[in-house]
Amino acid sequence: MGDVTVVGLGLMGSALARAIQYAGFELTVWNRSPAKMQPFVADGASGAPDVPSAFAASPVILICVDNYVAVNALLQTDTVPGILAGRTVVQLSTGTPLEAQETSHWAAGKNASYLDGKILCGPDSIGTDNAKIMVSGAEMAYETSQNLLDSLGGEVRYLGENVGAASAVDLAWLTTCYGRFMGIIHAANLCRSESVGLDEFLTLFPDDPDTPYYAKIIHDRSFDTYTSTLQVWADALRRIQQQGIDANINTEFPDFVAGIFKKAIDAGYGQENVMSLYKVLQLDNAPIQKSK
Ligand code: NAP
Repeated sequence: MGDVTVVGLGLMGSALARAIQYAGFELTVWNRSPAKMQPFVADGASGAPDVPSAFAASPVILICVDNYVAVNALLQTDTVPGILAGRTVVQLSTGTPLEAQETSHWAAGKNASYLDGKILCGPDSIGTDNAKIMVSGAEMAYETSQNLLDSLGGEVRYLGENVGAASAVDLAWLTTCYGRFMGIIHAANLCRSESVGLDEFLTLFPDDPDTPYYAKIIHDRSFDTYTSTLQVWADALRRIQQQGIDANINTEFPDFVAGIFKKAIDAGYGQENVMSLYKVLQLDNAPIQKSK
């Protein structure tokens, strides 16, 4: 038996698997599209032929796929539940606290140890000091997987046994991003109202790389530059709205932002930078001026 299996080798799963392999763990990989396993197999990992073999290959299974619908489709089959007893599942796909609780509850019923995690950084940060991952769930699962999680770099923070905590912090962090997006766009309109170049605005944030990054997208009209699309941000916003419903908390802010995202998606900007929201919030329909 190896040390760890990584299930899901998309952009994020590949980055996780690469960091784990680099740290020297004996790795097994599985991906729905088998071609994505080849680079890891070429570097010494075992490629599992199917999902049950992937789960049987290691005491710790790390999952990183699209969402919990995909996670549950992998777990809740005829064969996988019988393999899970005594193993640790570290689930790093994005979702809501309720989804984490449901999957954790299901795993406990199969005598598996379950840790739920959320990744608050891009794939390029994994394995570096910039990695930021929140995990929560069974303490035993955390202790079993701590070395593995440490290999992912940066900050891996255990938030305790409440399995929904990592998702809640992830959604909370994302919410601040939407506040920033709305603020930058309105700031751009304010600058534009008095013909002040956005380059003036950019200089106000010497210690904050993110605000100038997004403001510069508007300044340069480089709406086709992105690490994640406006549609991906819209999907994450839906999870924030869902948590408002599940937890019975006020949803006025995410509902308001979701209305603006809908306008942008309806206008065909879903595959552009999230700053394309600006295009539906301009003061008027005049072309955006580049400042000198
Ligand atoms: P991605 O590149 O689109 O990869 C998605 C992965 O999920 C692929 O391995 C895909 O398999 C697999 N998958 C989807 N549906 C499946 C199903 N029904 N059964 C089995 N496998 C399935 O996405 P990603 O960027 O790796 O994101 C993965 C997770 O990380 C998501 O929950 C995302 O929110 C989270 N995350 C991503 C980022 C980021 O910047 N990329 C940042 C933080 C968190 P195929 O290869 O066969 O399609």
